[in-house]
Amino acid sequence: MVKYSSAMPLTLPRPLSHSSLTLYAECPQKYKFKYIDKIPEKPRHFFSFGSSVHQALEFFYGVKAPPAPSLEELLAHYREHWISAGYKDEAHEDQCFQEGRRILTLFYRKHIRDYQIPFFVEYHFDLSVDGVPVKGRVDRVDRLLDGRLAILDYKTGKALSEDRASSDGQLTMYQMALEELLGAQVARLAFYHLPTLTEQAVDRRPPGQVESLRRRIVETAEAVSAGRFEPRPEERKCQWCDYKPLCPVFQEAPPPVPSEDGELSRLVDRYGELQERAAELQEEAGRLKEELLEHLARRGYVRSFGARYEVSRASSLKWEFLDKKRVLELIRKAGLYERILAPSAPKIEQLMSDPLVDPDLRAALEELGSKTETPELKVKPI
Ligand code: SF4
Repeated sequence: MVKYSSAMPLTLPRPLSHSSLTLYAECPQKYKFKYIDKIPEKPRHFFSFGSSVHQALEFFYGVKAPPAPSLEELLAHYREHWISAGYKDEAHEDQCFQEGRRILTLFYRKHIRDYQIPFFVEYHFDLSVDGVPVKGRVDRVDRLLDGRLAILDYKTGKALSEDRASSDGQLTMYQMALEELLGAQVARLAFYHLPTLTEQAVDRRPPGQVESLRRRIVETAEAVSAGRFEPRPEERKCQWCDYKPLCPVFQEAPPPVPSEDGELSRLVDRYGELQERAAELQEEAGRLKEELLEHLARRGYVRSFGARYEVSRASSLKWEFLDKKRVLELIRKAGLYERILAPSAPKIEQLMSDPLVDPDLRAALEELGSKTETPELKVKPI
């Protein structure tokens, strides 16, 4: 195995974890705010929700010996340990609480039949990766009949992208940790998407993927130790970043000065006003649409007239395939795979900007692609 041990003394505020590694790759400045300056972020409802459901499953599988807790006990535990932080209001919290009950009830009904106490529930690990301390927690580890291990990580958020389990660094880190600390080989890695009760499982990671993660861990530890915390602004990320008011990127922006060219300044303002008006009109049209649909439904009409316009109700059907693995299997079997296989540019772009994907692969993809720049005009009030 290649060793990437660092030549410099490492000073980390805390052991690296999958999330701190990802945070550093996303924006080193944000990592600094969170882990060096220790400025807490606002509580987020999706973290509270995820932890509440995880804790219930930990209780469900964490008994010393069968039988499993009953559904009533599981739901009572969920209610008693519910985490309230970060919800918009009471109604939002209640809606999420009910969603958690729904998930746990369906999960219980599906899995009480194959209930087995796992090898480990919430396995906490501390590891040294070529001298860098790393820590983490695996939701569930099972021992297979041949003695090898299976790793499972529960997800409560939005649907998983099709290839998430085969590229995600979190599972790679878990395989690395379990193999080093337990001395057993990992055979299977899986994400379990709780809202849809679907599992996405893959075989163990090949050595190259594990090596590339080791290298990233050492490189990140060196960058943190060297005090490299450059901000990496990106509109989508910064928009939701709690540290925006403190961030140098947004502090150093010069105060806006209207263009000296009067014609240009006039055009900018006119464009801004029109965009603002368009957004308002769109919002109003959305509300009116809802109102009209309600009226039509109440009266049982599909069409109605004003003095100058008419509206008619039409439905558009949208298919969704949750069990993508099974769908692909069927298509492959029928020999039609090539007909639907078309790597889409946004998906490849996602891979190229994913710090967890092998840098060599990202560079090779960049070489194969060609970029076209299309001018866009963004506008915001000053
Ligand atoms: S506002 Fe943007 S650049 Fe600044 S810390 Fe947050 S994510 Fe990084």
